Amino acid sequence: MERYWNQEIECASREDMKKLQDERLVAQVKHVYENVKYYRDLMDEKGVKPEDIKSTDDLHKLPFLSKADLRDAYPYGLLATPLSECVRIHSTSGTTGRRVVAFYTQHDIDIWDECCARAITAAGGTKDDVCQVAYGFGLFTGGAGLNGGSHKVGCLTLPMSSGNTERQIQFMRDLNSTILCCTPSYAAYIGETVHEMGLTPEELPLKAGIFGAEPWTEEMRRSIEKSLGIKAYDIYGLTETSGPGVAFECSEQTGMHINEDNFIPEIINPDTGEVLPEGEVGELVFTSITKEAFPLLRYRTRDLCVLSRKKCSCGRTLIKMAKPMGRSDDMLIIRGVNVFPSQIETVLIEQGYSPNYLIEVDRVNNTDTIDINVEMNPDQFSDKVGDLQDKERQLAGAMKTMLGINPKVHLVSPKSITRSEGKAVRVIDKRKLHD
Ligand code: ADP
Ligand code: ZN
Repeated sequence: MERYWNQEIECASREDMKKLQDERLVAQVKHVYENVKYYRDLMDEKGVKPEDIKSTDDLHKLPFLSKADLRDAYPYGLLATPLSECVRIHSTSGTTGRRVVAFYTQHDIDIWDECCARAITAAGGTKDDVCQVAYGFGLFTGGAGLNGGSHKVGCLTLPMSSGNTERQIQFMRDLNSTILCCTPSYAAYIGETVHEMGLTPEELPLKAGIFGAEPWTEEMRRSIEKSLGIKAYDIYGLTETSGPGVAFECSEQTGMHINEDNFIPEIINPDTGEVLPEGEVGELVFTSITKEAFPLLRYRTRDLCVLSRKKCSCGRTLIKMAKPMGRSDDMLIIRGVNVFPSQIETVLIEQGYSPNYLIEVDRVNNTDTIDINVEMNPDQFSDKVGDLQDKERQLAGAMKTMLGINPKVHLVSPKSITRSEGKAVRVIDKRKLHD
């Protein structure tokens, strides 16, 4: 039977949810207009006044904010409360450039914890569970977010942070961890280490995992579920909106429910800014309607995604977002063809390879080149050059079918690609060095 952390909100009627969002949005726009000069200027420039925003139907009238604005306004330019009201700062991982910082009041932290508590409960967590948090702790939001949610649910919390993989597994077994929270790439690495330590998934007390902070494919999910003997749930978030817990997966595992009482999502055409109807792929935009210290309105995430209001079997009525395909800036354009690293991951796992790979893109004589280094599993390893070449050719063929381009595939020996304990680096784009 499905359990909820906050059934009233998670299963609210559309009408009640919209009413709540309308009220919160109106108050939030007023709060931001009065307290954030940076955004007030943007609204004035667009000729929008707080009074023009009467409900969520008026959301499209507001100006967007982007990462460039956050960098511009660094560090205090988007702060909406006095610093003395703030209790915490977090920072982005800096995956795509200069870091930005976000501020939290105690109320902001309480709401964030609540969002993560919903995620843990949806993954089956109760106060009788032991929750091992192996996301990084520190400025990164992963560790702090799930730690707070785990406390709120009342789980016995193991704030391991990432790294020291054998010790993770040792503690997991000694202390009976039932829920593991970390990035999917780290979960895959833990799974691999379990196997190397001569253990089987049945020897682990785990039942569920809550994995996010980076894109991962369905194939990767199945592979982690098998190697750890668990059900793996997705979780999404970003520092700019608080951290993990903006959206979380339920038992249906067909997308993540967005905590709409705190974040209003929109999908826009990234080129024109036009709002797209439900079901179309575009850039995900969030408006935080409950945040006090760092309340971003219409923040462009650059994550490409689809929203759906299709009825979910779990009983939640919160809108769902599909797994993000990656950020618009993760997309590689190779000889005019759009390629996402996630498509490459899908092919690799389908063909029986490990999720350990590194994509190198370059430009030689004005032509884009793509080299995919793929690690062999020990049982795929062969000394015979001919064997290797056959395998490489076969994999390149499968890539061609999926991607429409012909990459060079290099099979490399087991263990030669660096494992990730946090967000994995999958792409090196050398073209940027020449520009
Ligand atoms: P940075 O932007 O520097 O990586 P964050 O740690 O705030 O900093 O990362 C947020 C980003 O991580 C999101 O915008 C998204 O691209 C990615 N992300 C987070 N969770 C997921 C998820 N479950 N699936 C795919 N991508 C995710
Ligand atoms: Zn659901």
